[in-house]
Amino acid sequence: MIVLGIESTAHTFGVSIIDYDKKKVLSNIIKGFTTKSGGMIPAKVADHHVENCDSVISQAITKAKIKESNIELISFSQGPGIGHSLRIGAFAARTLSIKYDIPLIGVNHCIAHLEIGRALTKATDPVLLYVSGANTQVIAYDGGKYRVFGETLDIGVGNFLDSFARFVGLGFPGGPKIYELSLKSKNYIELPYTVKGMDVSFGGLLTHLKKLYKSEKYKLEDLCYSLQETVFAMLLEVSERALAHTDKKELILGGGVACNLRLQEMSDKMCKDRDAKCFVLENRYNLDNAAMIALLGAMMYKEGRIRQNIKDTEIHPYERTDDVNVTWRK
Ligand code: AMP
Ligand code: MG
Repeated sequence: MIVLGIESTAHTFGVSIIDYDKKKVLSNIIKGFTTKSGGMIPAKVADHHVENCDSVISQAITKAKIKESNIELISFSQGPGIGHSLRIGAFAARTLSIKYDIPLIGVNHCIAHLEIGRALTKATDPVLLYVSGANTQVIAYDGGKYRVFGETLDIGVGNFLDSFARFVGLGFPGGPKIYELSLKSKNYIELPYTVKGMDVSFGGLLTHLKKLYKSEKYKLEDLCYSLQETVFAMLLEVSERALAHTDKKELILGGGVACNLRLQEMSDKMCKDRDAKCFVLENRYNLDNAAMIALLGAMMYKEGRIRQNIKDTEIHPYERTDDVNVTWRK
């Protein structure tokens, strides 16, 4: 089954074509909104997606060496995400579906991160540490749903990194720049460590870091090193408890922050210490991408027997991971 997926939950507009039965990604085109100053202004991001929508779709089709008439399913990110961005992807998906008379299905973006992790690694029943710009959740399957075992109580860890980077003039996205600077230091500065039960929070830490930076008493590289050590330890404390609680033996990292090599190293160590296995995807499948959207669409349509009518494809900006009934997993 040839599936076209569209991703547009935030700053990335992506289109991918997969051959579901042959388990092959035929194309995976990504166009990301970037800015040197400021952050993501929703209306500007939507303009970016509108400007790039047609060319990204054509590139994906050309690269996959298929014709529109070969596509058997269209799948798109229905939520959660920024309404302005989601609307453009949903609109493009509906248009293609109506024009070429192809079935259409909207999927949950967070679950797509987990399913591509299962599809591309040997993990079968993992805990997902999903760390992206807007989202930070520890997710695992239990009783017919993907349950959220822990999450951020305020901003996502990626937003935390990007906000600090913007404050100190590093630009957007800030995660990779903070990582580069962190490599120049081994000088740990004590920082607030906020784990509450199974949840984490970054707002207080961000305020504290801004104060330390403004005091001009600390080197930026020491702050970058220390903040990474602190927030990654917080995330892994919760992930480890989720592994213990669910008795699962596999951890997958997903989301843009999963590209961070220090987080990967710390995750691997935590897993080894408790006889679990840590799986990391290639960066292009950690970042927001449409291959995972196409994949989840195919699973829901083929294994889960879910079909949607156009009228059921309105976007769900606030959809929760555990709102979705997982009908496609045996
Ligand atoms: P996503 O929302 O999943 O596309 O992820 C975007 C987020 O990933 C942004 O907040 C980036 O700053 C962050 N990011 C990307 N690469 C890295 C990296 N190497 N280290 C830390 N954060 C990263
Ligand atoms: Mg994501």
